[in-house]
Amino acid sequence: MVSVRYQHLHKAFGDGSVALQDFSLEVADGEFLTFLGPSGCGKTTTLRMTAGLETPTSGEIFFGERPVVDLPPGRRNIAMVFQSYALYPHMTVQQNLEYPLRKQGVARDERARRATALAATLQLDALLHRRPKHLSGGQQQRVALGRALIREPEVFLLDEPLSNLDAELRTQMRAELIQLHRRIGRTMIYVTHDQVEAMTMSTRIAVMSKGELQQVGTPLEIYREPRNRFVAAFVGSPAMNFVEGGIELRDGRAVFRAAGLEVALPDARSARLAGLARASGVLAGIRPEHLSLEPGSGEGRVLVVEAMGHEDIVTAETPAGRIVVRSAGTATAAAGDLVPLRVDPEKLHLFDAASGERLA
Ligand code: ATP
Repeated sequence: MVSVRYQHLHKAFGDGSVALQDFSLEVADGEFLTFLGPSGCGKTTTLRMTAGLETPTSGEIFFGERPVVDLPPGRRNIAMVFQSYALYPHMTVQQNLEYPLRKQGVARDERARRATALAATLQLDALLHRRPKHLSGGQQQRVALGRALIREPEVFLLDEPLSNLDAELRTQMRAELIQLHRRIGRTMIYVTHDQVEAMTMSTRIAVMSKGELQQVGTPLEIYREPRNRFVAAFVGSPAMNFVEGGIELRDGRAVFRAAGLEVALPDARSARLAGLARASGVLAGIRPEHLSLEPGSGEGRVLVVEAMGHEDIVTAETPAGRIVVRSAGTATAAAGDLVPLRVDPEKLHLFDAASGERLA
């Protein structure tokens, strides 16, 4: 097992497009780290450079203490699983699993032993004699994972491996990947634009945008303390609300103020925010789950109510803009209602409106 360290990695393509800029990050030994970001942010390029399928323009990648940029893919001891996994259609599951070992010249008995053991781990034991076309999408994906795992690589690279599966299967495979990682304990680097996958599976998440690393942290750190507006907006569903206003000091207490909305900050944060008071240029980020339809911060006119059964997703128009509220219960509001709004002051995020950086 090894750690993977990216050091000032930079990648520009011949046509001048920059896929990655000054990317530095250490993926710990045995960690499940996810590159999360929108399409085109450089996730796949970074993974391909890790695999040796792409060469960085500058910078270095280390596996443990070993620099690998000059090593061809075959000498990196990695395995990669892609979104489109190509199994050999004419081979059985067992033969597909054994294939990488056969290519390495591993003896027949040893191949069979390892394929059987892995099939048990992946719950494919009953399917070893089937051909891919007689397997479900999830089973096929498990075989593809197995084929990557069987060589016992030091680093396991996964590029959106679940995106071709339907929603139910994706949920199931998420849980399976978590268990698999726990069982085998290998260093895994996972690429996705799906924040739910990133939040549920990762030890840590590296959020990327436009070729730059925005933040690295555990899923909870990313959710609770997004470093900038991009991370705040990208993680969380429904997405965070943003309201522009200012911070004013009232009797020593910091109060966020926007049109028709006021949130007095708790004492501990008030002290930290005292030096940041200004009439405008502050962007408050409020997650829908940190709002309730109670008096306290302002009010709004309900536009739409989406009933989820256990909760309503209420969209309301307020003087400060549209606000989405996750309201626990059923029939908590109806379109056209004037509803009170309360923001949980402990959970208010504050950013600089111009730079998007977190204020406190
Ligand atoms: P997606 O989720 O859509 O795969 P991504 O985050 O993985 O996106 P990359 O595929 O790494 O993004 O691409 C990053 C940037 O580099 C994009 O702007 C892309 O157009 C560009 N790019 C990728 N491969 C090449 C290439 N071979 N030649 C030129 N530009 C490329």
